[in-house]
Amino acid sequence: MTLIKIDHQSWIDGIKKAKAAYRVFGPVKEKKDHEFKLLDEDRMPDLDCQNTRMSPKAIIYPQSQIMFNYSLDESKDDCRIMKEVENVSSPQAIIGIRPCDALAFPIVRRNFDTPEYQDTYWVKAYEATTFVGLACSSACGTCFCTSAGTGPFGEEGLDVLMVADGDGFYANPLTEKGRAFVKTAGWTGKADSNAAEKIEQMKTAAEASVTSSVATDRLHDKTILELYNAPFWEQDAFACINCGTCTYICPTCWCFDVQDEISGKSGVRMRNWDSCMSPLFTLHASGHNPRPQKHERLRQRFMHKLKYYVDKYDNGIQCVGCGRCIRLCPVNIDIRSICNKMNNFDANACVCKVTSA
Ligand code: SF4
Ligand code: SF4
Repeated sequence: MTLIKIDHQSWIDGIKKAKAAYRVFGPVKEKKDHEFKLLDEDRMPDLDCQNTRMSPKAIIYPQSQIMFNYSLDESKDDCRIMKEVENVSSPQAIIGIRPCDALAFPIVRRNFDTPEYQDTYWVKAYEATTFVGLACSSACGTCFCTSAGTGPFGEEGLDVLMVADGDGFYANPLTEKGRAFVKTAGWTGKADSNAAEKIEQMKTAAEASVTSSVATDRLHDKTILELYNAPFWEQDAFACINCGTCTYICPTCWCFDVQDEISGKSGVRMRNWDSCMSPLFTLHASGHNPRPQKHERLRQRFMHKLKYYVDKYDNGIQCVGCGRCIRLCPVNIDIRSICNKMNNFDANACVCKVTSA
């Protein structure tokens, strides 16, 4: 591990230098919330926040993305020919991404970048991006990252891990991309010999601040049909208003819909984030809807994240424990209690031994 010390002035200078070579995104305060934005020449990332309201997934996977355009002008040779729209391929960097949000990208990659199928829009943008993370010094009340495959100092998905120290940072470049970013920023100051030990102590304290957890150890062994038919879905879905907030703010939700939009004699084919919580998501052209009731949609969301994903990839759950869906659900539906119910469900006894979150 080569630890770098970045003092306050080097931090400011480094971000400016990085902007000459990368499109740099970072959290900035917009009204009362922090959001990830492309930083213009004069703007610095504002790291005085725990986690942004929206995750930074839209930087790689925009909420609305034009994939093709075409002409409907019969007088033109290229009438009705789909033309692919150029996607992000120039270097970009996300500064201040938290370890939970960083882990979400390798999780989503399992869906968008497989040996059989590559979503070139997602893959190109992902490969062009350097993830410069910021360790969390303390957890939000709804975070449960340590039982969802990461932690306040988690490294998976990051190219550089920074740890705040006073008005400066320690930086640990983890990958070639990370080393290239640090070099571009001119961050070369060597950390003191006691820095590694100090960081280890900070990490232990930060992990201890995560007081929420979920049990996932028995999900893999459950039978899909038994969980599917469990009696708690209707009760848990009762308050849901199908607003879709939980899916839009989730860093690991990846579903989209493709639509054509035509204006005059030109058209675009675009994809837009979609939500399994919406009745329209599964509505067939015939009028049939395989998930017409809200408990069926809520069940789909949690079965996907906590059972289908678990069985398909055998690599944890499709959730990084960021806690956003708990904080922002208007009716307090809590993935922690549903995960515990699923994990503890006993079909034979037909009771849910619920463990509190
Ligand atoms: S945020 Fe809450 S109310 Fe809205 S769709 Fe999700 S579970 Fe239902
Ligand atoms: S399901 Fe909820 S806690 Fe898990 S990653 Fe998505 S928003 Fe965060």
